[in-house]
Amino acid sequence: MSAVGTGTPPVARESIDASGCLVTPGLVNVHHHLYQNLTRAYGPMTDSALFGWLRTLYPLWSVLNEESAHVSAWVGLAELAMAGCTTSSDHLYLHPRDGGDLLSAEIAAARDIGMRFHPTYGSMSLSEKDGGLPPDNVVQDHDEILAASERAVKQHHDRTHGAMVRVALAPCSPFSVTKQLMVDSATLAEQLDVRLHTHFAENDEDDSYSLEKFGCRPTQYLQEVGWLHDRVWLAHCVKPNDDEVRRLGMAGVGVAHCPSSNLILSSGIAPVVKLRAAGVHVGLGVDGSSSADSASLWLEARQAMLLAKLVSGAAVGTARMALEMATRGGAGCLGRLGEIGELSVGCVGDVVVWSLDGPQYAGVVTDPIEGWLRCGPATAKHTIVNGVSVVRHHQLVSNKVDAMLSNHARLARHMQSAAQ
Ligand SMILES: [Zn+2]
Repeated sequence: MSAVGTGTPPVARESIDASGCLVTPGLVNVHHHLYQNLTRAYGPMTDSALFGWLRTLYPLWSVLNEESAHVSAWVGLAELAMAGCTTSSDHLYLHPRDGGDLLSAEIAAARDIGMRFHPTYGSMSLSEKDGGLPPDNVVQDHDEILAASERAVKQHHDRTHGAMVRVALAPCSPFSVTKQLMVDSATLAEQLDVRLHTHFAENDEDDSYSLEKFGCRPTQYLQEVGWLHDRVWLAHCVKPNDDEVRRLGMAGVGVAHCPSSNLILSSGIAPVVKLRAAGVHVGLGVDGSSSADSASLWLEARQAMLLAKLVSGAAVGTARMALEMATRGGAGCLGRLGEIGELSVGCVGDVVVWSLDGPQYAGVVTDPIEGWLRCGPATAKHTIVNGVSVVRHHQLVSNKVDAMLSNHARLARHMQSAAQ
């Protein structure tokens, strides 16, 4: 972005009339598992907490391959763009044997649709036989994970200002990888100068697992494996105690708050107001489409606002706070403050135009931001990524939408039939 202001507009490739609309920075999604939209709202799993939910779905997900990774990412990113997201992360931790190069397949989808993308080379190294949760055929061995992580960074990571693709390393969770893999992933991330991501303190089972297996609380474990620093952003962080909140803030980590997922899996409510006050970069994540099902960052911002009102008081949980988490908070998680998540000179051209008309906004007069998040539901009128329209007049610009949705339906049926 070279200028923001009034007066005569510069000559532009495309002009958009946004009169009467709210214009925000593009929203930034910092936690997702795009492939999970292939098992969305999966019937047998509507009543499970996290660990049981995972054990049932792993066998279905084990048929993931390059085609299903590509199509699910395309559809998932399209869904995000329609609700105003311009940058998304993805935590791809499942690499079934013979599944192919899934990370490259999803990066190709992001490039095709025009979304700014932060995929992570995720990993699992502890299967059921080693005391972990996943079955043997979806985990990899230690050396294979580190080699593939390095390859992915060398092949796809772009360090330049305004990069469309940046890769991070992401062991799935303390209960699905060895302690040594956590340590070695942190060392490799330092060497390659990339970010680190994992699931963290998601629910009570997660806390108990840490105390039982590692003899300490989750934040102490992070410290022991070399993860308590500002290269790290953590998904969930529902259960930290006050001392852990302080330590996470001092370390300058980021947290992906995923309110809908935490509610659907009965995990709890993350203390986001305390985390922000302690200095943590709190962004928002839609989480995987099998646990949160809907992938709208507008919806997550609204849930975050409502939960913050409930936990910390109506005056604290404002629409502005939620918008800040959905934009600059996410930029902080991804190490891109001052580059994405705001409308200022020097930032990339990621902009969303929201119309505030129609029956659901009638009567919004005094505060368009409170109106935007308290009314709705909202979809973006225009979503512009890197200066190019991805959504125009509430419709995806790409001409591949119908073909992708029909492929997705076929692949979802195939994956869900793997359970029978
Ligand atoms: Zn997750």
